[in-house]
Amino acid sequence: MVKQVIPKSLNEAVDYLYDGSYRVIAGGTDLMVQKRNTAETPPQFGENLLFAFNLDELKHVNKNERCVRIGSMTSMESILHQNDVPSLLKEVIQDIGSPAIRNLATLAGNIGNASPAGDSLVPLYLLDAQIVLISKNQFRHLPIEKLILGPRKTGINNDEIIKEITIPIQDFTKTQWTKVGGRQADAISKVSFLGAVKIENEMIVDFRIAFGAVYKTVIRSRDIEKDYKNISVSELKERRIEISKRYEDLILPIDDQRSNKEYRKKVALNLLNDFIINL
Ligand SMILES: Cc1cc2nc3c(=O)[nH]c(=O)nc-3n(C[C@H](O)[C@H](O)[C@H](O)COP(=O)(O)OP(=O)(O)OC[C@H]3O[C@@H](n4cnc5c(N)ncnc54)[C@H](O)[C@@H]3O)c2cc1C
Repeated sequence: MVKQVIPKSLNEAVDYLYDGSYRVIAGGTDLMVQKRNTAETPPQFGENLLFAFNLDELKHVNKNERCVRIGSMTSMESILHQNDVPSLLKEVIQDIGSPAIRNLATLAGNIGNASPAGDSLVPLYLLDAQIVLISKNQFRHLPIEKLILGPRKTGINNDEIIKEITIPIQDFTKTQWTKVGGRQADAISKVSFLGAVKIENEMIVDFRIAFGAVYKTVIRSRDIEKDYKNISVSELKERRIEISKRYEDLILPIDDQRSNKEYRKKVALNLLNDFIINL
């Protein structure tokens, strides 16, 4: 018999999670769809459920001089109304689902779902987000790229809950977010692209690129990025074919009902090229 609990505090939640038998439900916008029944009966869950919606301790957004901390139960819609959240993250969240979905959906759920097409993962990779996990006995901070292991696979232990997401404060001269979906709104990404640069005196001092939905996880390569820092904007533009070739090796999309791999790869590389040429 499946148990369902609605803890009122984080302490109570981690006590329940301790034996590893509970699944956390945040907004339920992924889980309710994954477990749905076709026979118009309620979704079937084969595991105990911990509903996190009463955990007010996880609904904060705070900023200090180093970072912004977003509580894991802050809905995407309320993140959009927070001045302290980086505008780049808000721009991406604005493209997720519809207002009804965003009022329930959380960043923690997007992370926990670990879909290659999870839109918020793209800015979280690009912005060097750290995920803070808590269990009864320990705290862990993990960079997002260490936490996400592959499609629907994360390094979150059964007794852990995501407490918050921390994002270092940083600023860019130019950013470009593009989500390519089957329609303008409420679409799952076929391809997504995020580029960010910081330019000082016509020199590239920071260069970051992230792609979504074209590999098992978001693609971000610090090795490639570092080779294009401390060069002039015009040199970066001249070297864009070489940059494109280096990313081409990393972009390994799949065919599915939304798109095919040739389209995904071509569009991803075109978006990269457009970003660089328009700097
Ligand atoms: C109509 C529709 C449109 C959508 N559009 C988009 C879209 O445009 N882009 C996009 O990326 N996604 C989209 N989604 C998918 C979904 O809304 C997002 O992935 C959302 O972020 C999931 O958040 P949630 O809080 O509802 O997660 P839930 O369904 O509650 O949970 C998802 C997973 O995360 C785990 N989890 C949740 N919170 C925690 C926590 N605090 N600690 C540990 N594990 C946790 C759960 O156990 C589960 O495995 C859409 C879904 C629907 C139904």
